[in-house]
Amino acid sequence: MPELPEVEVIRRDLEKEIAGKKVKAVEVLGMRSIRRYKQRKPFVDALVGRKITGIERRGKYLLAKLDDGDVLVIHLGMSGQLRRAAGTKEPMLKHTHVVITFTQGGQLRFVDPRTFGELFVTSLDAVEEQVDELAHLGLDPLETVMSWDRFGELVRDRHAKLKVALMDQKFLAGIGNIYSDEILHHAGLRWDHMSDELTPEEVRRLYRAVGEVLQDAVKYRGSSLADEQYVDLHGKKGGYQEHHQVYAREGQQCYRCRRPVVREKFSGRSTFYCQYCQV
Ligand SMILES: [Zn+2]
Repeated sequence: MPELPEVEVIRRDLEKEIAGKKVKAVEVLGMRSIRRYKQRKPFVDALVGRKITGIERRGKYLLAKLDDGDVLVIHLGMSGQLRRAAGTKEPMLKHTHVVITFTQGGQLRFVDPRTFGELFVTSLDAVEEQVDELAHLGLDPLETVMSWDRFGELVRDRHAKLKVALMDQKFLAGIGNIYSDEILHHAGLRWDHMSDELTPEEVRRLYRAVGEVLQDAVKYRGSSLADEQYVDLHGKKGGYQEHHQVYAREGQQCYRCRRPVVREKFSGRSTFYCQYCQV
């Protein structure tokens, strides 16, 4: 599932590739991707003739702003991909559900094997009403500038295991299983360390780790795992998985202490960490 860095990489690509373009035609091949609509027409009509003026992000939701004040909301879900195509002649990938063609040529295609992702058009003001998660969204760790002591107050308020606190969307937006493990290793803290038992020094380390890991992940264009479900607009894999310190590295050496990385199951998820470097 794409997390914050992957969605931010796609946002930046979209800004370069489709901002300023005008929608010529929209083809809907899979109704589940536009499940807020009973028919194709209202969705298609809201887009055709509109120019895309810019791309914003709220948590893991992409908002393509339209020149009439509405926004095309795109959520990738578990396996959604946005793919740029040069034109209609480019072969259609399996599981392509929506195709947007621009007047200047070229297409944006929404591909989604597991169909948890979705697209819809709404007014900018109504986005939070439409998506409950966004109404209660926490801080955006890639955008919000915050002091470490304020961060510390918020962490301590959670009274939860650190991994749970980091993945709480009402606290921080967009951190999932991969980046919570990487952040905690970077900070030298265990996943089950209680958030309200951190020393000021540990809070500072955690605060720094959140920023550094996520920014590095964007720099390396996100993490593509073995399932290769995350690729960028051009179908290319990210490179940050090669920089993972613990995630999916069970039994391999910790780069810091050379002891094996361990995996533990916790509420149905795998957690990877080093028993020696993380306290
Ligand atoms: Zn270690």
